[in-house]
Amino acid sequence: MAGHDLPKQPVTVGRNTQLNDFGMRRMGVHRARFLLESLAALGGELRQRGSNLLVLMGAADEVIPKLVSQFNLDQVLTLEEMAPDERAELARVTRRLGNIAVQQAPANNLLRREELPCTVEQMPHVFSRFRSLVEDRLHVFQPQSAPAKLPALPEGAHALIQPLPTLSQLGLGEPLSVAASAFPFSGGEPAALARLRDYLWQSQGVRHYKETRNGMIGSEYSSKFSPWLANGSLSARRVISELRRYEAQHARNDSTHWLWVEMLWRDFFRWTLMRHGSALFKAGGLKATENASNRLDRRFKDWTRGQTGMPLVDANMRELAATGFMSNRGRQVVASYLINDLQQDWRHGAAWFEEHLIDYDPASNWGNWAYLAGVGNDPRQNRVFNALRQARTYDPDAQYVTLWLPELRDVPQALRHTPFLLAGGHLRTLGYPQLTRIPESWKPYLHQVA
Ligand SMILES: Cc1cc2nc3c(=O)[nH]c(=O)nc-3n(C[C@H](O)[C@H](O)[C@H](O)COP(=O)(O)OP(=O)(O)OC[C@H]3O[C@@H](n4cnc5c(N)ncnc54)[C@H](O)[C@@H]3O)c2cc1C
Repeated sequence: MAGHDLPKQPVTVGRNTQLNDFGMRRMGVHRARFLLESLAALGGELRQRGSNLLVLMGAADEVIPKLVSQFNLDQVLTLEEMAPDERAELARVTRRLGNIAVQQAPANNLLRREELPCTVEQMPHVFSRFRSLVEDRLHVFQPQSAPAKLPALPEGAHALIQPLPTLSQLGLGEPLSVAASAFPFSGGEPAALARLRDYLWQSQGVRHYKETRNGMIGSEYSSKFSPWLANGSLSARRVISELRRYEAQHARNDSTHWLWVEMLWRDFFRWTLMRHGSALFKAGGLKATENASNRLDRRFKDWTRGQTGMPLVDANMRELAATGFMSNRGRQVVASYLINDLQQDWRHGAAWFEEHLIDYDPASNWGNWAYLAGVGNDPRQNRVFNALRQARTYDPDAQYVTLWLPELRDVPQALRHTPFLLAGGHLRTLGYPQLTRIPESWKPYLHQVA
């Protein structure tokens, strides 16, 4: 579901707990919880308009044709899909439906296909070019409002309505609620619109976005729109039309402009995925290079468990596992660490994110990972983040690592980013792993604050 304020019914929930090509679940507990909350909210919105939501379990290409024939329906409405697996699934459903029309509404992008500055095949390879082409045009984004009334379900369909599955029924267990979460919000359109209102009009956090966006603690350092954007509870066009309204009243500044630029990144990755399809998921990515590492060893597991011995990386990975969210700064640091320091196959990192992120979106996730692995849209060959330098710059008082790594709380603050400098015996008693090698590039930052 994506794109408009009100997705269409019915919704099928089937592949959630399937494994992806890397042996990881396609959806973990945090995103599943968020999705179930989103569906519950959607059901409420539909009922208010005289309709209802039917959630069916199973493969879409079996469930939907069966429903169509059972109720003698004459058309199926859905949203345009951007990613190859989902496009293939839609093609299977369409084939199975035979003569029944399948109509696709535009996906939850900012730009419609006809508003792109070029054809999809001519999409610029580099973001700055895409941005300058788009910014030259004066776009007005007018999101469609949800209709006040919708048709009732066909007769007899009410009998099929069942309560939404629980997380345990989906084989996922219940997530613990974590007070330190940077995303303490619920799924669904009402929660999304409340956050939009708050970030733009009440707290006006957007006014300082450019200065705060590299933060890692709390809900206010960035907009947190991504989980709702990813599952269609929030329309990208609504975000920008509200942003424009805000700018008209309170004036535009660097921060409001930067939020627009980040939303353009989202569109850039989506249209790039549309253009390149499955190439984005290959080790050699868009560059089709043979040089990408396909190594996978114990260090990957240590990375997933937040047990590498590099505190900033471990803290971020533990936040992800505990809450389903990680800041953009954290994502860049842990991805670069896996790719460049641990020299592991980047696709396994992307697949780990796919399972765990509450805001997982195929284009943004695989696009950013490929970019950092040097096989995506980055004109530079190797974008290496020095993890210790990042720690000194973005967590100067070690507040973030202290929040997520309780075993380091008794270590003197000055050593919390470098516990590997403590004597080996001391680290063992703390139960924190010893780094095997201190990279040469960290030496200037070992004792110094950036
Ligand atoms: C390795 C890696 C994996 C990522 N995986 C995802 C993912 O699966 N889903 C996802 O939505 N984002 C992903 N991102 C992008 C970015 O980290 C998140 O969109 C952002 O952190 C979400 O928080 P926010 O909504 O508060 O963002 P804000 O900073 O408030 O930005 C506003 C919106 O702009 C868009 N945006 C911002 N940065 C990016 C970016 N680098 N690429 C694409 N869109 C962006 C998002 O829609 C975001 O909601 C990834 C980034 C990296 C480095």
